[in-house]
Amino acid sequence: MSARIIDGKAIAASLRADLAQRVAALPYQPGLTVVLVGADPASAVYVRAKDRAAREAGIAAHTIVLPDTSTEEALLARIAALNADPATDGILVQLPLPPHIRAEAVIDAIDPAKDVDGFHPLNVARLVNGQPGLVPCTPLGVMRLLAATGIATEGARALVLGRSAIVGRPMAALLLAANATVTIAHSRTRDLPVECRRADILVAAIGRPELVRGNWISPGATIIDVGINRLPDKRLVGDVAYAEAAPIAGAITPVPGGVGPMTIACLLENTLRAAERRRSTA
Ligand code: NAP
Repeated sequence: MSARIIDGKAIAASLRADLAQRVAALPYQPGLTVVLVGADPASAVYVRAKDRAAREAGIAAHTIVLPDTSTEEALLARIAALNADPATDGILVQLPLPPHIRAEAVIDAIDPAKDVDGFHPLNVARLVNGQPGLVPCTPLGVMRLLAATGIATEGARALVLGRSAIVGRPMAALLLAANATVTIAHSRTRDLPVECRRADILVAAIGRPELVRGNWISPGATIIDVGINRLPDKRLVGDVAYAEAAPIAGAITPVPGGVGPMTIACLLENTLRAAERRRSTA
């Protein structure tokens, strides 16, 4: 039997439609500002997509583009102004930043209540402690995919492959908060295939094209592939060998069209959340 395909595109579209309805019912318009430093083409594409999606959801979206010669001080001054602006509910600084700007200093400067990427140390600490806060968009998107597909996390053995601050670590914290039994694997893990085979839910976020083979997968397992890898022949593939895994898994996300669309939908969700919390306490 072939796996159920988890249609991230459709689930993201439904989440976005739901968010648009919630925004339309508000007595104010939530505001999201994305800051882009420099002219990296991939970053510019992401920023445009975020801006468009926010507008479609009824959010007041603004993009600030700064030249790559901008100083760290200039960027920090922009962030301070956005922190102080009552119409701005969400601030996102597109990463990576030029090498002369310290990403850590920039993330630390964002008001945690407006930190819609969920990267501020206070939001990271809240997540690790199981307290409410703003959560990174990609792992939040994975949790939404699991919920929409009816995959139970309670008591499930979950393996998170990758331990980055953006995906792997927050993913593990969210699965733990959802009562999964969580293992985190990484480049120093001794026997990756054995660890993978034990998982009821496997989340791959390593950036290695098709590293996870079909025979690493437990029959019936849920496979969430966060990886996005461009092959020399221009094909886009995930971290899981999809054609091998699909006949064995119980459910699987395709690449593209799985986790990817959920990231932007969850950015909108975070913006709405930030607006509701901030404005109810203002
Ligand atoms: P990253 O910062 O490069 O982290 C990669 C992680 O994978 C590290 O923890 C690394 O281990 C581990 N790793 C690398 N090679 C490995 C191997 N051979 N065996 C076991 N573990 C290995 O990457 P990231 O930012 O988390 O992104 C991961 C992937 O997700 C990329 O393909 C990225 O494009 C994609 N992504 C997709 C979305 C989306 O919206 N769909 C969003 C973000 C990222 P060590 O810690 O030991 O080095």
